[in-house]
Amino acid sequence: MSDIVDLTAAERTRILAKSALFDPPPAGLADGRRDLVGLSRAELAAEMASIDEAAFRVKQLWHWIYHQGVTDFSRMSSIARPLQRKLAERFVIGRPEAAVEQTSSDATRKWLFRFRDGQQAETVYIPDPVEDRGAVCVSSQVGCTLSCRFCHTGTQTLVRNLGAAEIVGQFMAARDAYGEWPSPKGETPRLLSTIVLMGMGEPLYNYANVAKAMTIVMDNEGIGLSRRRITLSTSGVVPIMDRAGAELGVNLAVSLHAVTDALRDELVPLNRKYPIADLMAACRRYPGASNARRITFEYIMLKGMNDSEAEARELVRLIAGMPAKVNLIPFNPWPDSRYEPSGKAALERFSGIVNAAGFAAPVRTPRGQDILAACGQLRTEGRRPRGQ
Ligand code: SAH
Ligand code: SF4
Repeated sequence: MSDIVDLTAAERTRILAKSALFDPPPAGLADGRRDLVGLSRAELAAEMASIDEAAFRVKQLWHWIYHQGVTDFSRMSSIARPLQRKLAERFVIGRPEAAVEQTSSDATRKWLFRFRDGQQAETVYIPDPVEDRGAVCVSSQVGCTLSCRFCHTGTQTLVRNLGAAEIVGQFMAARDAYGEWPSPKGETPRLLSTIVLMGMGEPLYNYANVAKAMTIVMDNEGIGLSRRRITLSTSGVVPIMDRAGAELGVNLAVSLHAVTDALRDELVPLNRKYPIADLMAACRRYPGASNARRITFEYIMLKGMNDSEAEARELVRLIAGMPAKVNLIPFNPWPDSRYEPSGKAALERFSGIVNAAGFAAPVRTPRGQDILAACGQLRTEGRRPRGQ
């Protein structure tokens, strides 16, 4: 047993070290000013100390940056003018720049954000068709190291990780676009109140930055999203799943897509490293798995590949006893993709079997397909600079 634990710990260390090689360049501007977005409270305190300001400034700044969404020091009315000027000389409160913004016929909105080094990633806002709220789907990497067969992002190699500032920045820029910060009357924003880490990249292969960004958005004196309003989707990086569960405790979504190792090896090549049995064991260990906090299993429905009745029954066997729900995602095609989405009858049969076993198994309606904003359609032109 201890051997297994040690091996997992060693593997985790190896993954985290390798991931750090893909971190972004330092978050400063050409003129030497530093971006305050994306710093932890401790880092912000260190910046204040470096300009001889007291630690209580951290609380003030945190409120303005993350609660009020202010990007201009001169609007920080609880801070005296001379200090506002001093801060503006040394720091910025940055946002990624929206290079392209598109709105789908179903009101889904997609941004292509450009970061300081010119790399780009996509972010999608998915309004809830019934309730007056919605989810922001953020990217965690430019490209992806993995190459799932059905995924457009997977056709792009990993260019680099997104930093914490860039991950939080996507959400903050989306809030800017909707004017979703507290009004002077104190009304709290509602529309952009959920984050799904389901954009480009594998969040658990960029765990350090993702964890830092989520710690910032969960901080009660700032954006203050509860962990229940955040869902992290992984293709199954087993050694990091435990860590994410213990440290962040956000909702977990697992991209399963196949019920046999033979097929999953092909569709989600990471399965060769962490096969289904290991993945399921990690799901069963995931903390907080109670009926209120079910694990979501994502299952792309690919015509004639993984959508048979026998596979539905096997899926039920795999997740038996787990607090779980299954999201059936009709395959979203992209240019040159080689699969076809399952037909309506197959979707209904599959969903019916999983449902009858006591698991919710909704068929997800693709959103934003006309602007290539649906699951698995995101991709940018980013390339890794030569020599790296
Ligand atoms: N890397 C993570 C998160 C990003 S992908 C992961 O794989 O979970 C977000 C979701 O979109 C995953 O469930 C992924 O399997 C799914 N997806 C990818 N390509 C898709 C496509 N063409 N059609 C529908 N869903 C897709
Ligand atoms: Fe990467 Fe997720 Fe796409 Fe697989 S499905 S290639 S893990 S982004």
